[in-house]
Amino acid sequence: MKFMLQIAENVSLSQYSTMRLGGTARYLCSVQTRSEVAEAVAWAITHQTPPIMIGTGSNIIWKDEGFDGLIIVNNIMGYEDFAEDETNHYLTIGAGETWDSVVARSVQSGLTGIEALSLVPGTAGATPIQNVGAYGQDISQTLVSVEAFDLTTQSFLTLPASDCNFSYRASRFNREDRGRFLITGITLHLMKQNPLPPFYGALEKYFTEHSITQYGPAVVRNAVIDIRSHKLPDPATTANCGSFFANPIIDQDALLDLQVAYPDIPHWPTDDPEKVKIPAAWLLESAGFKDFRDEATGMATWPAQPLVLVNEKARTVADLLAFKARIVETVKEKFSIELVQEPELLP
Ligand SMILES: Cc1cc2nc3c(=O)[nH]c(=O)nc-3n(C[C@H](O)[C@H](O)[C@H](O)COP(=O)(O)OP(=O)(O)OC[C@H]3O[C@@H](n4cnc5c(N)ncnc54)[C@H](O)[C@@H]3O)c2cc1C
Repeated sequence: MKFMLQIAENVSLSQYSTMRLGGTARYLCSVQTRSEVAEAVAWAITHQTPPIMIGTGSNIIWKDEGFDGLIIVNNIMGYEDFAEDETNHYLTIGAGETWDSVVARSVQSGLTGIEALSLVPGTAGATPIQNVGAYGQDISQTLVSVEAFDLTTQSFLTLPASDCNFSYRASRFNREDRGRFLITGITLHLMKQNPLPPFYGALEKYFTEHSITQYGPAVVRNAVIDIRSHKLPDPATTANCGSFFANPIIDQDALLDLQVAYPDIPHWPTDDPEKVKIPAAWLLESAGFKDFRDEATGMATWPAQPLVLVNEKARTVADLLAFKARIVETVKEKFSIELVQEPELLP
């Protein structure tokens, strides 16, 4: 088979993670079409090397030892608005489209469903991987299906959302089928109506403080952008991967135990009445990691949001993982809660 794709060799992975750390990839290519995806996979098979598809690396921590395989950077663009009626709008989006541009386009068209996911970095195709969520919305609420290349069957398929096993920050794509599907497009179902209250707590607070009582998708988007811009660092200028830990979900009994020592511990209900979610940011702050700088590793926590670990001058992923271990151990000692890392450690 003759291959047309440009394959680069020995590429530094630090430019493919917004944490800007990591070793070297043996091979790397960029794909713009579905047929290039099939070609890249065929190339990997011929060269007996494993493939991994990525977007912009805003949720990846590469290992220091790098990756002895083929990184496939998804640059498949395009929108297809294919069905609508008075209240519904369906569209398919190329997996390489910048997610925030997808949200901006949807909001400009007066559509509701993803406006609270404004400013989440990365590509459209990555959103189903960890069921991207923010401010009360997650992608599972609007996703109709995922179009992907299945490495197991060596063919393209369409997976309905009901087959994606979505839950909080999780799906089959980052659990049981991690790495199996190379996502080429996603189809969303958006609504031609205004978003309705009640909104997520932080948004309700923002609307009250700004005397906002008329709600449209643009109002929600502007509020989210304002809140996020004050709270989160821009990965273009500050090396970070967003929230480094997921909010832990614990049993009601464990909460009761914790409330003896910490009566004010914040918590939210979950779909399971036996379990509650604890804000990881509160755990970090209470464990002494607010605006914390660690000279030994060159890592820090972001002043406005301790959940965001920032690479100020770390040299290696080992530095980052040492800082992480220090946080995890301190929180575990104090609260008996094991924090779980959100960005994927790859490969
Ligand atoms: C400042 C900041 C704020 C953030 N805020 C949020 C937030 O509010 N909510 C939230 O959920 N996340 C948030 N994130 C995390 C991140 O933005 C999302 O996880 C995003 O979806 C990652 O997109 P990406 O294109 O960069 O994916 P990458 O980081 O490149 O990849 C992430 C994972 O998905 C896989 N992957 C990516 N694209 C594909 C594809 N097309 N096919 C198959 N596998 C693929 C990769 O192999 C990897 O396992 C934040 C990150 C930052 C830096």
